[in-house]
Amino acid sequence: MTLKLLHLTKKYGQQFALNDVSFTLKQGEIVGLLGPNGAGKSTLFKLITAYLPATSGEILVNNLKASKQPLEVKKIIGYLPENNPLYPEMYVKEYLGFIANLHKVSKTNIDKVIAQVGLEGEAPKKISQLSKGYKQRVGLASALIHNPSVLLLDEPTTGLDPNQIIEIRNLIKQIGQTKTVLFSSHILQEVEAICQRVLLINNGKLVADINLNDLKLASTALITLRFDKVVLAANLQSELQPKTIEKTGETSWQLSFENGVDSGAILFDFAKKHGLKIVEMTQKGADLESLFKQFTT
Ligand code: ADP
Ligand code: MG
Repeated sequence: MTLKLLHLTKKYGQQFALNDVSFTLKQGEIVGLLGPNGAGKSTLFKLITAYLPATSGEILVNNLKASKQPLEVKKIIGYLPENNPLYPEMYVKEYLGFIANLHKVSKTNIDKVIAQVGLEGEAPKKISQLSKGYKQRVGLASALIHNPSVLLLDEPTTGLDPNQIIEIRNLIKQIGQTKTVLFSSHILQEVEAICQRVLLINNGKLVADINLNDLKLASTALITLRFDKVVLAANLQSELQPKTIEKTGETSWQLSFENGVDSGAILFDFAKKHGLKIVEMTQKGADLESLFKQFTT
């Protein structure tokens, strides 16, 4: 399964909601779509699900063109819209049965997804009786009912309390083991907690495609640390070869290292060799937050 966006553009009247967006999602990836309100996240989902037509560009799902075979594409994609529209008067099972009918899939799938999203205890209830977290699970279940290989989640944790947020995050991670997941958020910590890859979108443009592991490696780490004893600057300099070195207290130092250096390991080896203890150490690199600011202001 691959999902490919090729120069996707969407205009509402004269306004560009999406402007020449291209990226590819590979099988089994969990990818965060991060951007401030109004960036174009929901519009992107509506185009991928063929709910809205693109102004120009193309979406390929497994080499099917969304513009030519929207029904085939819809079979492969599960979608949880923003604000999770549900029918509050319906019972959980009744609602999922209704969704199963729309997709023309067997009702045996219902019990499977109820178990998958942890809704067993709530299944006999009316949707209006459920907490917001459980309503969100019903939304997830309805997005999963036709066993899609791609799952699109538009701000799936917005409006939930902290415990519910953690539960839904864990569910997303779990579902992501077998499916390609694209989920949107305007919260940085959220995407950092769930995924390895982040697409940053601002004013309808894709402004960065970031692998969070690379980000950690590529950042020049600035390390602040304190040993339990006095250390000579010359020893630190010759043995660790830091990029910069500054003494900030009697036994405290601030060091920076070249990209990709495993500075933690080097420092611990140094301490061990000289019979020192590292009593304090903090590391600060180029993080997602500074990138987000850089690209969105
Ligand atoms: P996000 O989900 O990132 O908050 P949206 O995709 O909802 O962003 O909106 C992107 C831009 O398109 C916003 O400026 C919004 O006001 C505008 N927009 C969204 N939907 C419509 C619509 N149906 N008609 C006109 N403008 C719209
Ligand atoms: Mg939105």
